[in-house]
Amino acid sequence: MKRIFNNKNVKYHLFIVLLTLIYGLVATLADFHGSPWSSAKDLVLLVMQAGVVMCATYSFLMLLALCRWVFAVVFPVIMLLTVVMVWFRYTQGVTLTPMIVELCFVNDASMAFTLLSSWLVVVMVLSVVFSAFAVWVRFKHVPSPSVLPNLVAGLLLLLTFTSFVPSFARPVSLRMPFSFYYCTRDFLSQQRVAKAERPAFDGPAVCQADTLTVVLVIGESLRADHLQLNGYHRATTPLLAADTSLVSLPSVYTREIFTHTSLPAMLTRADASDSGLAYEERSFIDLFKKAGYRTAWLANQEPVRNYVYFMNECDTLVYANRGKSAYVYDKWLDGELLPLVDDELSRPAPRKLLVLHTIGSHWWYESHYTDDFRRFEPVIDTRIVSSCTDEEMNNSYDNTILYTDWFLTQVLGRLKDSCALMIYLSDHGESLGEDGFYLHAAEHETLHWPACLVWMSDAYKSSFPSKAAALRLNAGGDHTTDFLFHSILSGAAIETDYVVDSLNIFHNGRD
Ligand SMILES: [Zn+2]
Repeated sequence: MKRIFNNKNVKYHLFIVLLTLIYGLVATLADFHGSPWSSAKDLVLLVMQAGVVMCATYSFLMLLALCRWVFAVVFPVIMLLTVVMVWFRYTQGVTLTPMIVELCFVNDASMAFTLLSSWLVVVMVLSVVFSAFAVWVRFKHVPSPSVLPNLVAGLLLLLTFTSFVPSFARPVSLRMPFSFYYCTRDFLSQQRVAKAERPAFDGPAVCQADTLTVVLVIGESLRADHLQLNGYHRATTPLLAADTSLVSLPSVYTREIFTHTSLPAMLTRADASDSGLAYEERSFIDLFKKAGYRTAWLANQEPVRNYVYFMNECDTLVYANRGKSAYVYDKWLDGELLPLVDDELSRPAPRKLLVLHTIGSHWWYESHYTDDFRRFEPVIDTRIVSSCTDEEMNNSYDNTILYTDWFLTQVLGRLKDSCALMIYLSDHGESLGEDGFYLHAAEHETLHWPACLVWMSDAYKSSFPSKAAALRLNAGGDHTTDFLFHSILSGAAIETDYVVDSLNIFHNGRD
């Protein structure tokens, strides 16, 4: 027995096991903090997922400590980054995303100091002390193992968890320590896309209005047939239903069913005949700027490589709810956008475009509305979709719509006394148990019919009566999301050759 424990390989792996357990207690536990579960089965699944992350961590540490000098340099840095992120996870519900990496790069040092608290300093000092101890143990008490077999085994294990098995790769990549690498990599790749050159639109773009505010609300996972406005049997939009300036377009089709593919298609001239334009051309935001609009993108979702270019086209890009990811289960609300809307509306520019990218009705529905809007019950109480009933899924989903109803009413309340136009278009729908499908992970008809709403202030309607009349006439027809590019330019009274009348909902075919 004693001989086994004196074996250098066994000693080495015992050290890695201990290190993984301690790291897991600090990092993996924080990453899974707040994950909702309601039965023993859910808990077992959660523990299994955490186990996968810890196995991946084991393989990583096993490779890292092979050379003790590499371990001495890299481990303390990783430990320090980890405790800082764990601190923000527990105190502010923030997790590492490419957006947080961006904020770290963009913010100056003074910002960092305002975030430092004395307890965080204590935690950081403790992490340095622990790392120094681990490095000392590695040098003094842990013999170096056979390099080649451990290197091969470690690499194979690591690749299994980060590449070979896709169902492991994504959850692992968003958890520490792997998130440090993947989030930085994604941030740098987003930066390359954002800074890439796309040709400017030719020809003039002239706005015919002196003062006009245009707000585009990009919705999330909101299907048209769950709106009271479109005849849904539940009162999911009581506030909007009472607003006579609001028009619903109940039949808008989207080809794209994921946020990251839908947004580029919505914002550009891309259509069924040339979907590649979404990744070659600028968006309508560029034409708004050309026509003298001040443009702002207010984000309640993190940037993604496919559409980060358009976010950076805007004069202003501001994030609400920083550091939220798919694995954070505390409140992540669109109401956080409202102070940012106020800031933008108070700017002196006479013509403004605001793009609000909302979190809307995204999965883990319970995060995206406040308790006041829990009108349909019982609601979901576990993150394991298969453990939720269809009734719970629909109730929670419909509660998010009640919150969106309130949120949009808040936005419209800020616009009603000015000359303003609001277009709401969800990026895609959501499956709620039809044919056994849920969320928006797999192709299903329910994903192709997003909610779409248009609102005009009284001042807008009297300035542009023919647009208002055309909208009423066109609203009930069949559309695709291709309408947005052309209609928002026309709605903003921008004259440009790029507007195609047949795709413009503010154009009366009989003109
Ligand atoms: Zn989406």
